[in-house]
This record gives sequence, structure tokens and C-alpha cells, in this order.
Amino acid sequence: MSTLSRPELDPRDLAEAHHHDHDDTVYPGKVLFVGIHLACFAAIWTGVTSTALILAFSLYVARMFGVTAGYHRYFSHRSFKTSRVMQFLLAMLAQSSAQKGVLWWAGHHRHHHRYSDTEQDVHSPRHAGFWHSHLGWIFAPQWDKTDYEAVPDLTAYPELVFLNKFEQLPTLLLIALCAWIDGWTGFVVGFCWSTVATWHGTFMINSLAHVHGNQRYVTGDDSRNNWWLALITLGEGWHNNHHAYQRSTRQGFRWYEVDITFYVLKAMSWVGLVWDLGAPPPEVVRNERPVGKAVLEKVARQLVETFNVEQLVTDARRAQANAQQQFADMKHHAEDRFEEMKHHAEDRLSEAKHQAEDRLASMRAQMQGAMAGVQWPNFPSRDELRAKAQAMLPASPSLDAIAARAHEMLAERVAERLAVVR
Ligand SMILES: [Zn+2]
Ligand SMILES: [Zn+2]
Repeated sequence: MSTLSRPELDPRDLAEAHHHDHDDTVYPGKVLFVGIHLACFAAIWTGVTSTALILAFSLYVARMFGVTAGYHRYFSHRSFKTSRVMQFLLAMLAQSSAQKGVLWWAGHHRHHHRYSDTEQDVHSPRHAGFWHSHLGWIFAPQWDKTDYEAVPDLTAYPELVFLNKFEQLPTLLLIALCAWIDGWTGFVVGFCWSTVATWHGTFMINSLAHVHGNQRYVTGDDSRNNWWLALITLGEGWHNNHHAYQRSTRQGFRWYEVDITFYVLKAMSWVGLVWDLGAPPPEVVRNERPVGKAVLEKVARQLVETFNVEQLVTDARRAQANAQQQFADMKHHAEDRFEEMKHHAEDRLSEAKHQAEDRLASMRAQMQGAMAGVQWPNFPSRDELRAKAQAMLPASPSLDAIAARAHEMLAERVAERLAVVR
């Protein structure tokens, strides 16, 4: 909807607006609002006449129609077309319900759709609590002014700007009419009772219709469909339908979703008072149309917000640290294995070397043995050595042993020398 697409408000501007609030100030609207509520009890003294009751009922229905067909479906959403005169009459009827000017109402309502159930929403039960969304927000000073920038299509009509400026005018005229019809009873029962009922019927759309009921469509907010609210508010209870497809004049999308405002507007279109009534496309009614990019983003963000990101980060960090530790462990293990293999290889090498040396030694011994078997020419015999020892030494019982050892020793020496020479 072209009138709804506007650059996002800078949150700093909002913070600035909050900064200038003066919550301790009593605003005239607040006094009037409380005053009309209290005036309802004056029926104790004025009494209740059937004329006043019929007046109250008629004024409730007529002004609820002014709220839903006027303030909401026409001025806020431009969901149908009408003549300039009829537009003015609709504004008069809407403003007779004492809900401020049509430009004020439409500006804030467009804001509500732009920021539905976010922190910036004008009236969201999710963020500001039920009672604030019901009526508290009306008295919040930052919403007191008309947001003219949000309604350039309406400021084009001077008569609407005038009516918005003198917002109480239609209400005062209605009060005079009620008093003229049935005196004080007309004012208390006819006007005050029906005004309070219309107020709370309207407020319930901002509060209850975002809390109680069913959601057929993914809209990125808490809007709901609520049949009994739809009956009380002449069709506004199909609030989830409305948030899903705001261009539609009809808010009860299915045949069994009673929408009295729409039936009246439809009848008016037959006699040419209004025309070009917006309707939901069949795929929207069947809930087969994919959600738009903005809603998709919003809902995805809400889904993401249900997770504890800090916890996920902590877990991821822990997993990362674990992986690093595992890697370090694996590296150490590999280094240890390498050292082990190296030592093993060195062991094997030195073992092989020893084996080779042993083998060499045994081969040499074998060779020496073989050499020993060879007859060496002129090698003295044991007897010759004994004779020589007998000649060299004094008499001894060990001469034989000495000769045997000397024979052995001499043989070894010769063998050794032979081996070296070879
Ligand atoms: Zn709306
Ligand atoms: Zn809403």
C-alpha cells in the first residue's frame, strides 16, 4: 500500500520525543475522557428513558460504523472511494465518537501497521501492556500531535484539515442534539453511555484483538480473528485478516465471518454513495499467498530472537576450543609416534650393526679355526716346547701345563698375525 510505505523513523527521533514528555502534566483530553466516564453514573439522578436507550443504541451503532468505515477503512487505509461530500460526512460521523481528528487517527493507525507489535508500535499489548494498548497510549504526550507527514493524501483536503484542528466540533454538535431530544437523560444515557461503549469497543481492537482469538495468517504481529469482537465492533474483530490484507474493505474474508460495516458499505455502493470497494484476492482468502519480504524478515527475526545467541556463541567457542585441543593432542601424539618410530629405527639399526659385527666376528673365528687346522711348517710341537721349557726353567710339576699353554698361545699369535696380514 503506497500510503503505508514511508522511510522508517529514526529511533533517535523517538528517543528525542520521549525526552520531551512531561508525564506529570494533566492534559485536557484526559479530563474530558474521565469526565464522560463519570457522567455515566449521573443516570442515577436523571433516570433512564426508553427514548434515551434507543438513542444510545442508535448512536453506538452509527458511530461504531463511523469508526470502522470512516476512521479505519476509509481514512487510514483508503480501501474504497467516495465523493468529497460523503468523505466529509464520514469524517463528521467518525469524529462525533470523540476519538480526535481523522488525520490524527489515520496517522497513528498507519504507524500501528508499520510497526505492529514492535517496540515502536503506538499501541501494542506485547510491549506496553494491555491497559496501555487499550487506552493509556491516547494520553501519552508523544502521540498527542497529528502526524501530518503520514497522511499527505488527507492533508490535500482543507476541510479535513479544518475538522482535524477543531476535532471536538462534531462531538459538541451531537451533545446538543442529544440534549435537545431528551434533555439531561439524552446527554447522560444517549450520549455518554454510547460514547463510552464506542470508545471501549474501538480500544478492544487495539488491545484484545492483539491478544485473544485465532491467527489464520502470518502477519508478523499478534493480530487475531475474534468472532464476538467482530459482532460488537461491526466487523473489526477480523483483525488478523485485516493485518494480512489491509487493502480489502471487507475484513470478514469468508462467508461466515460476519462483517456488518462491509454489508452497509456494499449496500451504499449499490446506490453509488461509495465505490471501488477493495476485496482480498482468492489466493489470500485461501491463505495460499506467500508472505511479503518485510513480514518474512520480521517473523524470521522473531524466530531468531527465541534463541539464546550468547549461549550458542559460548557453545561454539567451547567447540572451537575443543577442536583446537584435539588438534594439539593429535599433533603431540603424531610427534610422539614419530619419536618412537625414530628410536625404533635407531634400535633396529644398531641391532643390525651388532648382528653384522657378531657375524663378522664369528666368521673370523671360523676362519681362525679353519686356519688352525692347516699344518704350519716348522711350528714347534708341544714336546719341543716342553723340552725347551725344561732347558729354560728349573724343575717343576707344571712343565707340561706351561708347555700346553705356550703351545696354545703361540698358535693364537700366529693365527692372529695371519688374519691381519690377510
Ligand atoms: Zn488497520
Ligand atoms: Zn492491529
